[in-house]
Formats: sequence, structure tokens, C-alpha cells
Amino acid sequence: MAASLAALLQARGYRVRIRKFDPYLNVDPGTMSPYQHGEVYVTDDGAETDLDLGHYERFSGVSARQSDNVTSGRIYQDIIAKERRGDYLGATVQVIPHVTDEIKKFALDESDDLDFILCEIGGTVGDIESLPFMEAIRQLRNELGRDQSISIHVTLVPYVAAAGELKTKPTQHSVRELTSLGIQPDILLCRCEHNLPDNERAKIAAFCNVRKEAVIPALDAESIYAVPLQYHAEGLDDQVLRAFNVDNNKEPDLSRWYDINDRYHNPEGEVTIGVVGKYVGLQDAYKSLHEALVHGGMAHRTRVNIKWLDAEMFESEEDIVSKLEPMHAILIPGGFGERGSEGKIASIKFARERNIPFFGICLGMQMACLEGARNISGIGDASTSEFGATDNPVIGLITEWQSKDGIEKRDDDSDLGGTMRLGAYPAKLNNNSHVASIYDSQEIEERHRHRFEVNMAYKDSLEKGGLIFSGMSPDGELPEIVERPDHPWFIGVQFHPELKSRPFDPHPLFASFIGAALKQSRLV
Ligand code: GLN
Repeated sequence: MAASLAALLQARGYRVRIRKFDPYLNVDPGTMSPYQHGEVYVTDDGAETDLDLGHYERFSGVSARQSDNVTSGRIYQDIIAKERRGDYLGATVQVIPHVTDEIKKFALDESDDLDFILCEIGGTVGDIESLPFMEAIRQLRNELGRDQSISIHVTLVPYVAAAGELKTKPTQHSVRELTSLGIQPDILLCRCEHNLPDNERAKIAAFCNVRKEAVIPALDAESIYAVPLQYHAEGLDDQVLRAFNVDNNKEPDLSRWYDINDRYHNPEGEVTIGVVGKYVGLQDAYKSLHEALVHGGMAHRTRVNIKWLDAEMFESEEDIVSKLEPMHAILIPGGFGERGSEGKIASIKFARERNIPFFGICLGMQMACLEGARNISGIGDASTSEFGATDNPVIGLITEWQSKDGIEKRDDDSDLGGTMRLGAYPAKLNNNSHVASIYDSQEIEERHRHRFEVNMAYKDSLEKGGLIFSGMSPDGELPEIVERPDHPWFIGVQFHPELKSRPFDPHPLFASFIGAALKQSRLV
């Protein structure tokens, strides 16, 4: 919702930022299982954030920052650190005003060059843990004044099939709950499966104290790319500007949205990509990856069918052939832990031997190095120290690296939260490499989230096995990209390119990968 509204406001020429408030107590989602919380989205400035920030970034094109996502955990951590330092000068530290003040500060932080800040509060109205956020928003609205802030409430209008009826009661109840917290919504965005008839809209308006035109139906859309256009057709951006008393009857420029919808909904080709991973039961665990593959398809007007394949299946040769043979390309995504690694390595061997386009991301690149080390370079027990002690740590712990803030150091005993190599780092690409031609540049910057890296003590043996280190950190110390020049498309990257792909600006590696899959689809 916030991402689509941001896109509509931008299309009218406004500068926007979107922020997400997560009421849970984790300091950030970095240590949460992808099964609990979906993917962890990493920003350029190295924050591990909620996956909604990925949507915001993809829809608005504005790079998200650490200051765009805050959890109760982070707020309490900051407050308790201040309390221990004695910053409160003997005061009793309380939810109101100390926690609410911190929340208000986050809401307005770094906002000088903006027209609108969109703050999304996670969870549901009535949750105990979101109360301080609601209270902070109530205060903020009072402090900023009526035409400087508005409140939009997303509600559900369920359809009861047996009665053939839309039910407005849940919306009425949740608005009542919200107003009891002192927040009267200006706009209601009503999620519904069926069109909201005029009389139901009028009923919601009357019960909820909202103008009828500001009760906006939000029907399930054909795709996420259709949502901004649909909200515009229902008048969301008009109503928002009206609530702010802004006179703006110019039509927004939505041409780029029409263009990507056309590319997405009217494809001319089709490819099937096998993603061999571990968290395949929950699509949100690979949200950005899914989007980046679709963007790569948009670049070629191609429908991308993604087959999520559990790596553990590939421990037998038979399954590999039957399940991977129909794929036009194979991708191994990032991940943590040993489970499924043998299946990943076997899939990489299959892609390498059969000349099927292969893309390895983060753990996927590390597995591509283990595959080469074991099956070509003759290091049969090559492994990664992530999976336990090994005589041949072809992948090892990063203990020291150069960041923008100086040298960072870690060891086996470091905390797990927030201690990986995180955020944007530059890399230099070899002249004449496949990746340099794909990026059309020799200098790139990509986002990282990993604790281990290819151990350069094994560089010579890996190179003898046909892998080339075509991208390195600028100091030449850390391997960023490997590729196989004797293969049509075989690239492994230590970073997460999917985090920077946008529908209007598909990431070059994903666009090229889908191009290679298209070529492959014509061969088979
Ligand atoms: N587990 C690996 C590491 O920490 C890879 C991480 C990832 O794929 N994001 O290095």
C-alpha cells in the first residue's frame, strides 16, 4: 500500500520516503528465520531490514536506509543505553514520553528534502506491542497540525460466500478501535475480493466518520505491478492530496507503470528457471530474488516461470536429471547452514556439465567453488568452515575487511546479530570478463550479507579447475565474482544483486541471465 502510494505521489512530481515501524522486540530481523519473517532486506548502508523495504525501494526507486526501518527492540536498546550512560539525568524513563519521543524522532528523521514521509506501522490495530507506535502517531498528528499529517487505515472487507455478502463489520470494529486510541483515519483502504457496492461504501463512510470518496476499495490485483494503477483509478492519490488540502489536479505521469505492466502482462517468450534452495516452502524467503528474476524477464518481454526446488531432493542422480533437465537455467540463492548443500553442489555439477546457464548467489557462489574444487581440482573433501571443522576450508570465515568506516574485525565468538559483512561494497571487474561486459563497466557496487568467503589460499587450484576470479574487492583481498569462461553462462557472486533490481531498471546480471535462459530454451 505504502509503496504504491509513494509511486503515485512521485508520478505527480513529489519527493517521498517510506518508513516501516515494526513493533516486535528483535533489534532487527537479521537473526530471525526466513520462515518466520521472510527475507532480510539489506540496504546500501548495511542495515538488515524488513522485506517491505525492498518493495518500497523497487516501487519508488529510492534507496532505503537504516533510518527507514525501526523496531521496538531498537528503540528500547537505544533508550536503555542512554539510561545506563546517565543521559536522563535521574528522570524515571517511561513509555510516554521517552519511547514515544524516540518513535516521533524516527518518523521525522532526515526529512528536510522531502515532500511526504509515509510511515507504515506493522501489525494490526489492537496489538499490545504496537500501542506506543499508535500513541506516538497520535501525538505527532496533534503536533504537526491537521494539514501536515493524515492517517490511512487499511482494513478488510471479507466476502462470505455462503451468504453471498460483503461484511463491513470488521472494518467498523477496527476503525472504532483506532479512534479509541485517538486516531481518526482520513482515508480507508478496504481490501476486498469483490467490488464494494455504493451502498456498502456509504455505510462504511457513515459508521467510520470518513467521506464516502475516501473509502477506497482495494481489490485483489492481477499482479503487484497493477496495484498503483488500480489505486489511482480508485482515487487514492486524489484523496490523499485532498486530505492535505493540496490543490493538484494535474494528472500524474504513470507512463513507466503502463510500460512495465505491458511488459509483464503481454510477454512474447517464456523461460523456466530452477531455483535450488532451502527455504522453498515460503516464497517471501526469496522475495527480492523472485522480483529480480521477473524484472530480468521484463527486460526481454519474457514470462519467467520459477520452479522452487528443495535442494535436499537432489541427493540422488535420478532426481537431478528428471527435475533439472526441463530447466532453461539454474540458480542457487543465498542461504545459511549445511542442509541441502550436497544437493546444491550436485545441481551445479549438472549445470556445468550440461552447459545450462548457472547463477550462484552468495552461498550459491560458495557452493560453485566447492563443486569445482571437489570435482575438477581434486580436493575431494573441500568444504566451508560454516559447516564445521574441515581440513580443506575452501570457504572460510572473514576475519578482517576494509569498510567505509575502517578495518572491521570478527572472530568465531562474535555475536550473530549485525556482525556480517553488510551493505554496499565496491568491486573491480577484470577487463574482458563476462561480468564486465554484462555490467558494461569495470567498477560496480553491490550489497553484501555474509560471514564467509572464498579462501584465496585455494585460488590457484580453483583456477586450474577452470574458475576465474573476475571480480575482487578494490584492495584485491576479497573475491567478489567467479565465472567459467568455457561455459555459456556460469557466474557466481558473493553479493546479492537481487536487492538492487527494480522493475524500471532490471539488474544487468538478471537481465543477462534471463537472456541466456531464453537462448537455452531455443536449444532444447
Ligand atoms: N552462509 C554464507 C555466509 O555467511 C552465505 C550467506 C548468504 O548466502 N547470504 O557467508
